[in-house]
Amino acid sequence: MLCYTYFMIERIIFDWKRTLYDPSEKTLLPGAEQVLRELAEQSFDMILIGKGQDDMDEVIDALDARKYFRVVHFVAAKSDELFGRYIPPEKPETSLVVGDRAQGEIAIGKSLGARAIWVRTGQFSDEMPLPDVPPPDETIEDIASLLGSPLLDLQHH
Ligand SMILES: [Mg+2]
Repeated sequence: MLCYTYFMIERIIFDWKRTLYDPSEKTLLPGAEQVLRELAEQSFDMILIGKGQDDMDEVIDALDARKYFRVVHFVAAKSDELFGRYIPPEKPETSLVVGDRAQGEIAIGKSLGARAIWVRTGQFSDEMPLPDVPPPDETIEDIASLLGSPLLDLQHH
């Protein structure tokens, strides 16, 4: 008999630069707005943890994208402590981290037991996952592909 416990994803922790936002074009990446809108409509608890300071707070407001998130953090450096606030230790698999840095937010999320989807694109696409951390659960080529992820199981959410 096949027997396992399947945890539904309840919250999604997004990276900002090169995951949702293109810092060279200063716009949302193609498909990002639709992804955020659809996931927010599906009642996922959405958290943004991006690198940046007041400049990025201004940008996210100018792009009218803050409304999709319950919490927005722009920080100088990402930390286990900050991610740990959104990854419950008793069931870390209910949190999903989405980002473009295999050795950044993806490594932090996996080391804390969360699920992670690596958006392997752009400047950091050759940065490989760390050998001493579980690998990302899934790799996609662009943020628009997130809606097709079996991890999100959108039909049944
Ligand atoms: Mg990034």
